[in-house]
Formats: sequence, C-alpha cells, structure tokens
Amino acid sequence: MTREKIKHYLIMAGSTSHMLRGDKLLKDRSIVTSLVPAPSEYGTVCATAIKIRVEDREEAESIFKNNSITIEGIYPDKARKLIGLVEKLMDSVISPEFMEILKKIEEGEELDLKDIVILLQTERKAEKEALFHAADRMRREVVGDVVDIRGAIEFSNYCRKDCRYCGIGKNLKDLNRYRMDEDEIMEVVHYLHSIGLKTVILQSGEDLWWTPEKISSLIKRVKGETRMNITLSIGERPREEYELYKKLGANNFLLKIETTNRKLFEFIHPDDDFDHRVKCSTWLRELGYLNGSGNIIGLPGQTTEDIAKDILFFKEMGINMIGIGPFVPAKGTPLEDYPKGSIDMTLKAVAVTRIACKRVFIPATTALASLDPDGQTKALKAGANTIMLINTPAKYRYNYQIYSDKNMVDLKSAFKAVEEAKRKMPPYLKVTKLSI
Ligand code: SF4
Repeated sequence: MTREKIKHYLIMAGSTSHMLRGDKLLKDRSIVTSLVPAPSEYGTVCATAIKIRVEDREEAESIFKNNSITIEGIYPDKARKLIGLVEKLMDSVISPEFMEILKKIEEGEELDLKDIVILLQTERKAEKEALFHAADRMRREVVGDVVDIRGAIEFSNYCRKDCRYCGIGKNLKDLNRYRMDEDEIMEVVHYLHSIGLKTVILQSGEDLWWTPEKISSLIKRVKGETRMNITLSIGERPREEYELYKKLGANNFLLKIETTNRKLFEFIHPDDDFDHRVKCSTWLRELGYLNGSGNIIGLPGQTTEDIAKDILFFKEMGINMIGIGPFVPAKGTPLEDYPKGSIDMTLKAVAVTRIACKRVFIPATTALASLDPDGQTKALKAGANTIMLINTPAKYRYNYQIYSDKNMVDLKSAFKAVEEAKRKMPPYLKVTKLSI
C-alpha cells in the first residue's frame, strides 16, 4: 500500500487571538500560510486553522514557542479520499463518464473544468443524488457536522454604485435610505455576543459616508467590547483601508465576484472593472483576511461553463468563504423581469464547490431560503456548513432588499434547517431551540 505524501499541515492555536498573532508572525517571516476551517479531527470545527507547507513546520513551531503562542494540535492535511463511494453506487443508473468523475472524487484527485461541467450539467436523478452524497461526505470529512452560525447587520443601504441586479443600487428611488449609527450597531453586536456567536458580519452598500475613521471606530468598539470576529462586507476600498481594518482586528472580508465571465460581470456591474475586483480580492488574501467571495446562479446569459469557471476561480484564489445563491430578480432594477435562478443548479454548484474546494466555509445562503422555504436545509445536505442570520433591526430590514422578497433568516429557521439536515448547532451557542 502506498503512503500518501502530505504537503501541508494545519496548526490549531490555543485561541483566536493566538491564531491571528501566529499567522501574522509566520507571514512576517515569509512563511506561506492560509487560514482555513479547522479539520474535523479537531472536534470544534468552527474554529480556524493555519495551513502551512510541510517544510515550514519546524520553523513555525519554533516561532510559536518563542512568542508564547500555544499550539493545540498539528494535523496533516490529508487528501480526502471517499472510500467506498463508487461501490455504493454500482446499482444506480449513472453514465460511464459521470462514474469516472466519481472515481476521481473517491481517490481524492483534483477535478478539471470538463469534470465540473459534467457534474453541473446532469439532470439524472441518480447522478444528482450521487453528487449530493459525495459532497455531503466530503463536508463531513473536512469540516465535520457542526454548522457555524454568524450574525449579519446591514448597517447602511446607501450605495455609490448601481449594479443591475441589486435592489439597493443608487438610482433606485422606491426605498428609504438609512444608516445605523455606531450605538445602534453596537446594541445588535452585544445581543449577538450575548447569545454566544463568535462572528459578526458588518455589511453595507458602498457607502463612503462611512469613512475609514468611522469604520475604524466601529471595529475598535466591537473588538474592545466583545472580542468577536468581524467580517466586513463593505465593497471595494483602497488597499490601505483594507490594511488598516486588518490591523485593527477585522478578520474576514466578503467581496463577491458574482461571475467570472468578464463580459457578464461588466454587464451586471456598470460601475465596476473586473480586473480591479480581482485585484481587491488578491489584496485581501495578501493581507491575511479570511477571504470571502461567491457567485450568483442564473444570471442572464450565464452558461454552465461560466459557473464551472467560477468554482475553479474560488479554488485558485484560495477563497475561504464561498456564498452561492440563485439569482432573485429585484423590483425596480433593469433585471426585474428576468427569470429566477434555478434552485437545482444552485445546489449542484454548492455540491461541486465543496468537492473541488474542500476545506472552506460555504453558507446556506439567504437567497436560497428566499426562493425555497427548505432551501437552507437542502444546501446543508449538499455541502454547506454555515448559516448567516439576518440581525438588522426590523425597522430597517425592508429597505435592505438586494433582491425582492428576501427571507429573514433568524435563529428559529436556523435551528429548523440544522435539525432537518441532521447536523449540529455549534457548542458556543448560548441559546437552545426551546429558549428562543
Ligand atoms: S451589489 Fe453592492 S455595490 Fe452593487 S449596488 Fe448593490 S450594494 Fe451597491
């Protein structure tokens, strides 16, 4: 039997602050790192691991020791083989070419563009079931059964841009513009902290009223008063700003590409430049953020190959959080009369992304929940491992509808989805299904 050659290790530090400090120290010494979800072997899977190359292990351990950073464990990042996957499917009606790809998945081999297109294109029931089964197994192998729960606050619906699909673009008149002030935001942050959540997502349109000084002040308060992880989702900003927020303690940044088809990107984003968006994502990665991206399934003119290329882009860019949602037309936008994206294709894209990108956070998106009441449960069963609650105060929510009839994902619906998908709520949550 040939022994697998390990190329990377995953280091689990003693705490989030140790992990972040350790990651910075390693980067300062030119050790290549990336931040990824903790391996399932670690137990509490909703933590973050530092991935390093095998040859850097000794030096990394010595740096940690000299700087009093505790290490809870070091795990080999094994190629994930799904032993027995194909054998179990032998009696199913699966085409030979689909079966060949399943064999590659079973062996832990990388998928290429052609494989991904074939997986996404299938309409056969047995093949889709096999795909979801493989993705669910991969999810269990790499990140375990716990669903990470995060809370989002949409703190401003002002935006300088006018993306064609977006229900809060600058030219839309039929909504009231709002900006929450810092105290209002902190009130929600404290609530999220009180129920045990570890991560708050601070999301807004591209609102330059929120200057670097104001964003910095908010980050300092969240860190100083709760020490929660912060995910920023505030759009394109100069590199220096991203750097400033990182230094102040922001952990994650969500900046979706929406599509990697350059022409389609430019059509839906009249104010944006494709290369610049990619550059922003690269900066975020270089600065050490847990880097979030994602796409929209069912954009006008989008092909299956486009979606496959999106998935390869996420993999090549080392994206750690990948939000995949169906296109939901928003009232008053140029795309309001276009058909909704397919739930089926969205779930296939979630599944293939889990298989191709493996150790990443994949949310069961609000957009899926908006088109299908069981959408989040289905996404969890197809490879997703994260739920984002919408915690924007009720008086503002109606005016933050990037797409129409947005579902308000709350704790109750999160408990329901997690239970139906036979998964586990995170141990850090301080509320139970009965107490909410
Ligand atoms: S998608 Fe984002 S950047 Fe584009 S208009 Fe909407 S809020 Fe603004």
